[in-house]
Amino acid sequence: MKFHVITLGCQMSAADGAETAADFRRRGWQATAVPAQADAIFLTTCSVRRHAEERALSLIGRLREWKAQDPRRLLVVAGCVAQRLGSRLTKRFPHIDCVVGARHAGHYAEIVAEALKDRISASPQAMPKPLATPRGAGIPLGGPVQHLTIIRGCSCACSYCIVPSVRGSESCRPVEEILDEAHARIQNGARELTLLGQRVNAYRSDGMDFPDLLRALDALPGLRRLRFMSPHPTLCTDRLAAAIRECRTVCEWVHLPAQSGCDRILGLMRRGYSRQQFLDTAERLRATVPDVVISTDIIVGFPSETETDFTQTLTMLEELRPATAFCFKYSARETTPAAALADDVPAPVKEKRLAAVNAAVERLTRQALDAQVGGIVEVLAETSTFGRTRTGFKTRWQSPAAAGDLISIRVNSATRRTLLGDINEPNTP
Ligand code: SF4
Repeated sequence: MKFHVITLGCQMSAADGAETAADFRRRGWQATAVPAQADAIFLTTCSVRRHAEERALSLIGRLREWKAQDPRRLLVVAGCVAQRLGSRLTKRFPHIDCVVGARHAGHYAEIVAEALKDRISASPQAMPKPLATPRGAGIPLGGPVQHLTIIRGCSCACSYCIVPSVRGSESCRPVEEILDEAHARIQNGARELTLLGQRVNAYRSDGMDFPDLLRALDALPGLRRLRFMSPHPTLCTDRLAAAIRECRTVCEWVHLPAQSGCDRILGLMRRGYSRQQFLDTAERLRATVPDVVISTDIIVGFPSETETDFTQTLTMLEELRPATAFCFKYSARETTPAAALADDVPAPVKEKRLAAVNAAVERLTRQALDAQVGGIVEVLAETSTFGRTRTGFKTRWQSPAAAGDLISIRVNSATRRTLLGDINEPNTP
């Protein structure tokens, strides 16, 4: 049985896809990068923004042709769109064989195997029995930089966000399971791990909180870098800042989603902090971790956002000075509290605000990159000529290095998003 995995959307969706691919392999399936050669396509989807959901639906529609070429082929749709639409998906797209929602993330492979066992055993290339290998042993060689999900779901109640209703409330994986998986990933080539969770710093399990978990992972031999995504600003405590400063592997980069710089809009968004509290959190982080680089998320055009409200977001960005930001236009998501508010910012105004905020971010990114020129940065090589600094800047160089090595780069110049330089000298063995 040959399978092909397609992941759409956020890093959680990508991590779910990679984990499921590993589980399929453990069950004896063979991965293929070519959909035309696949007996099964496994698609993980995202519904956080309307556009992401529309993309998923459009792709499912296009896969009708792939399925029609051989009706024995299997199409499995998983993730947030599957959770949200459930049987409505199969009604609209009868060529789907199995729908498995995001609340089953972490168990997709076993659910698919059970749901389709008759079809799979009837297939000319039936799926063999699962191999008797421990969890983690099937983790593929995923390159030097890998993701590790530590929390699923979200217990926050941001008014615009569909995640809590599709992914359910937070569920933290046990510490031992995380450490085992991290160890297996390091054995299989990972040098940098990014811990994933919708509110990653809400982690709490077995008497340990998130800073404790960072310290436990930091002690793993062979691990060179540790990142996490995305922390919630209200949970960025002094203990977390101290762990970032003190842990050898934890990188000086924190993605701190602001969403807005206006107190009234933040209140409507139910983010749980004011503009000043958010900026104070960033300042405290900078005071404890002097070289820390901050990035952020912004939503423009939230219901009732006025020009004055939006200007406060722009001035907040100037105070925050993020190295980059992911900026989006608000789109109402069914079943969220914000969907009950009139989506009253006209589309052209949303476009204009998005362009303005992107222009500000572009300038701040330029300044952050230019500040690196002439300096020497430590880069983890993800390929022979590309990697990232501890602070998250993309970096390219000419002479090939071994993927997974930490190298020292003298920065000569910067493009719009990337540092360019030469290898200075080997940094560490
Ligand atoms: S913290 Fe808020 S925005 Fe993030 S996933 Fe949870 S509800 Fe959504």
